[in-house]
This record gives sequence, C-alpha cells and structure tokens, in this order.
Amino acid sequence: MAYDKDNIFAKILRGEIPCNKIYEDEFALAFHDINPQAPIHVLVIPKGEYVSMSDFTADAPDELIVGFFRAVGLVAKQLGLDEPGYRTLANIGEHGRQEVPHLHMHIFGGKKLGSMI
Ligand code: 5GP
Repeated sequence: MAYDKDNIFAKILRGEIPCNKIYEDEFALAFHDINPQAPIHVLVIPKGEYVSMSDFTADAPDELIVGFFRAVGLVAKQLGLDEPGYRTLANIGEHGRQEVPHLHMHIFGGKKLGSMI
C-alpha cells in the first residue's frame, strides 16, 4: 500500500497538528491517544513513511527498526508499566482494523486489561 503523506500521523510528525507528546527521539515519537481505550493509552510511531509491519521490517533501515522498538520499551518503562504490565498492539490493514495508515504501536495499561480480541 502506498504511503499517504496526508495521514493524520504524518501531519503530527511534521508538526502540522498538535499532539500530547510524551517522548521523542530521532527514530520515534510517542503521544497520548486522543480517544483512550484504557487509563493509559499511548501511541508510538516510527519517523518514516511506513504503513504496515511488513513495509517497516522489510524497508526501514536497521537503526530505525531498532530505535523504534527501543522507544516502545522505553516509553512503557517511563510510564511505570513494566510492573504490573501492559499490552502492545499494532493494528495492520483491513482485518486488523487499522484506521491510520502510518505504522503505530499502541501501549495500553493502567488497569488489568480484558481479553485480546
Ligand atoms: P488504529 O485503529 O489505526 O490502530 O488506531 C488509530 C488510533 O489513533 C486510534 O486509537 C485513534 O484514537 C488515534 N487517533 C486518531 N486520530 C488521532 C489524533 O489526531 N491524535 C491522536 N493523539 N490520536 C489519534
């Protein structure tokens, strides 16, 4: 799937629309979800034009892949979620119910979460 440069997370990355930022480095940006589904609901996005996990893992430079996943772990730790735990989730494509076509990892926490699906 071709990357849509006008998707909402691309606009957030370009600073064209605001976000409630909690972490940023050269590889990733993390911010609070606008419609939280848990007491803590954060999104982590890579700084690059990738729609899916397949695009990202096939095409992104190694340092970006490492940097992105490192940022996910770091953000969860900074939010105090390592104990008692949390959930990461990436929705991909139609069956995954992906709404925003820029790869993103959800971090859910702050309560004992429900079942997976
Ligand atoms: P998806 O279904 O694509 O995995 O999830 C997209 C997520 O992005 C949803 O949880 C939705 O609430 C969130 N979202 C959509 N638009 C915005 C926005 O403009 N700002 C923020 N912070 N989150 C957004």
